[in-house]
Amino acid sequence: PEVAVPAILAGSARRFGDRDAFVHGDERITFSELGRAAAAFANGLLAGGLSPGDRVALRMPNCLAYPVAYYGTLLAGGTFVPVSPLLPEPAAQALLADAGAVRTITAADVPYLCSGMSEAPPDLDLDVHEHLAHLAYTGGTTGVSKGVRLPHRNVVVNTLQYACWGAGAVPALDEYGGLVLDQVGSPEEWPTRLGTGIAINLTPWFHAMGTIGGLNAPVLGGTTVVLHSRLDPAAYLADVERLGVTSMGGAPALFAALLACPDIRTRDLSSVRSISSGAAPMPLEMINQLTRLLPDTPILEGYGLTEVTMGATSTPSHRSGLRKAGAVGRPVFDTEVRLASLDGDGAEVATGERGEVCVRGPQVMRGYHNRPEATAEVLRDGWLYTGDIGVLDDDGYLSIVDRKKDMLLYKGYNVYPRELEELLIALPEVAAAAVVGRPDPAVGELPVAFVVPARASVSGADVLDAVNAQVPGYKRVREVRFVPELPVSAAGKILKRTLREQLT
Ligand code: ATP
Repeated sequence: PEVAVPAILAGSARRFGDRDAFVHGDERITFSELGRAAAAFANGLLAGGLSPGDRVALRMPNCLAYPVAYYGTLLAGGTFVPVSPLLPEPAAQALLADAGAVRTITAADVPYLCSGMSEAPPDLDLDVHEHLAHLAYTGGTTGVSKGVRLPHRNVVVNTLQYACWGAGAVPALDEYGGLVLDQVGSPEEWPTRLGTGIAINLTPWFHAMGTIGGLNAPVLGGTTVVLHSRLDPAAYLADVERLGVTSMGGAPALFAALLACPDIRTRDLSSVRSISSGAAPMPLEMINQLTRLLPDTPILEGYGLTEVTMGATSTPSHRSGLRKAGAVGRPVFDTEVRLASLDGDGAEVATGERGEVCVRGPQVMRGYHNRPEATAEVLRDGWLYTGDIGVLDDDGYLSIVDRKKDMLLYKGYNVYPRELEELLIALPEVAAAAVVGRPDPAVGELPVAFVVPARASVSGADVLDAVNAQVPGYKRVREVRFVPELPVSAAGKILKRTLREQLT
């Protein structure tokens, strides 16, 4: 599509006008109010001297001011730089300097910038293929966060890919941001997701999954997003029942917390038409538990990374779409996935074999900001090398085995922590688990499990025996350390480097 990101909001302001776009406690903003406020914000930025392509950092938690500032920045021709409000000051300053941000906006600045400004959108004339909409920073789970260059087209395309993939439909935007569906399959198979719905969002908008899955995709579809500022599982489940929430989405950490809350068995969750998970692996045990609770609700797992705007694959949600527990679905439209040999020669591996996941498609970044070497390392021959290890099956479904950086090497054998974690989590005495390597001069690395026990009296030896009986000798877990909880990033990923530090 040849439209810029603000077309997504313009289309919804026209089509869904008086419907609530976002609700936060007692506050709410409709689609048309959001359209007008974003225009006022853009005019405020322009009155302050903003030039096209200037970087505008948004440093605030999810709140009603956020979408105003987000669409307003893009409407003014600025580039959105998301900054986590949880980042300690020195890290935030380093990010702002790296991005070259000319302004940093907090929630309190938004009404001030809008005040007295015209609510007519300024003219936006930009090249959607070149002009950066986002300069988004990777989660920093494995190391330093890197700025990812994402032009407008990437953001629009990836939003469409996810909003419509489940429909089995190839979508486009008309010049006003209206959805045009080139449908594949019969209308009965169209998704539940495309229809207007109600979603609760906790995924931070400073993260890729938040900006696309939790902000642009619902705005495109006319879905009302109810904001919760912090994860309170009982309050979340109460709102699902009270509001008739139609889609629940987030990282597996969200579902782990909901499953641990007794209310999940007493609340009426029948309004939920789909459960979407991404950002980190969803353990099979969790899929089984959710399926037992909500047998008719499809669980849609997607896979991606900041470098592909948000995502590359997803489970189809239309009725004829095949679902495979534990797989992250198939490439979304216009997207190709191939697996490159882990030996380093880059050759494509056969179906069923492990390889590095490589992605090609219109949502792939234009490179890292200020990091030509890191860019050259991951963008090769038109493909993005993701650093994730995956397997493709005969139906083209991808499963993520692990991250290359998390893989352990024991006497020359590859040990994949995720395989051990799946076995651990399946034990009734284990609530959560993460496996990392302890360096060992004789053998390389030895698997150590950090385990959150499900009950008080659990013995480490029993856990070891139960897992090790199921794996060959070289994969054996050598030590269990019980912990009250696992360290998790703001985006919901287990921070394995923090666990590794505890071993040295
Ligand atoms: P950094 O790259 O700076 O270490 P990060 O990995 O947190 O940070 P993100 O772009 O937030 O950066 O995360 C992308 C990663 O999340 C992917 O490379 C993959 O390892 C993981 N991931 C995303 N979705 C899934 C999924 N469905 N299953 C397994 N892993 C996933």
